Amino acid sequence: MGLELPNSLSPSKVTAFTDCPLAFKFSVIDHIAPPATYVTLKGILVHEVLQIYYGQSEESRTDTSNLFEIFKSVFDRFKSNPELISLRLTTEEMLKLENESKVLLSNYLTMENPANINAVGIELQLETVIENIKLRGIIDRLDIDSEGNFIVVDYKTGKSPAVELESSRLTGVNFYGLLCYSLLNFIPKQVKLLYLADSVTITSEIDEERIKSYLKRTKAVWSAIERACIRDDFRPNPSFKCQWCFFSKYCPTNGGNPDLALTELSHSSSFSIVDPEEI
Ligand code: SF4
Repeated sequence: MGLELPNSLSPSKVTAFTDCPLAFKFSVIDHIAPPATYVTLKGILVHEVLQIYYGQSEESRTDTSNLFEIFKSVFDRFKSNPELISLRLTTEEMLKLENESKVLLSNYLTMENPANINAVGIELQLETVIENIKLRGIIDRLDIDSEGNFIVVDYKTGKSPAVELESSRLTGVNFYGLLCYSLLNFIPKQVKLLYLADSVTITSEIDEERIKSYLKRTKAVWSAIERACIRDDFRPNPSFKCQWCFFSKYCPTNGGNPDLALTELSHSSSFSIVDPEEI
């Protein structure tokens, strides 16, 4: 009979499937959500602060101390977040979360001058259907530069990848280009990934040829997911990422039984990112 297909593809899902089909199955097909972690919550917190900051007028961004005032009010509210409470952080760990988040925001201010940014979209939720494949993605920020070009900006709260892993991190870049092209009828000139932990910006240029080739790849990934669902055949693909894998206890490569994950772990309707470097 086969398994039910996911209802859409996003950059995280494409990366999850290509990284490890079995981990993808646990998260996306079986709807088993790994619990929030310190790292994922820190990412959510910093993204929310930057989202509110760029929702303000350009004039109010000339004073960067404003960013830390926003942080203070968001952090105060965040303390009652049920997922954060479930981590049962000690007072010292809460202080660490606060300080590390502030460092990420300070690093951010060394990477861009907010007063010079013309942000025309924040947390843009884009969804389109191409050849029966529903594609969804959230763009952290969409800018227009001084020459009228669109620039997609994606914040990453982790460190920049090693050179040999850079291309895998650009999956999201191509995906955003495809979404803009299909839905908004323009090709962004650039996608910028801002790695706040080590203040590194990775910039990638996009053109029509690249988008077409990425569309081909997306269709190939979707076909592979369809085949895996029909055959109920999602194989493990061990890599260095296994060290972060929430499902490693249930993975056959570690002698685990994947069927037990279905009965022992709780399910959720949302898809959570397994790889902390993707946040
Ligand atoms: S432990 Fe590694 S191989 Fe196994 S499911 Fe997780 S990521 Fe895949």
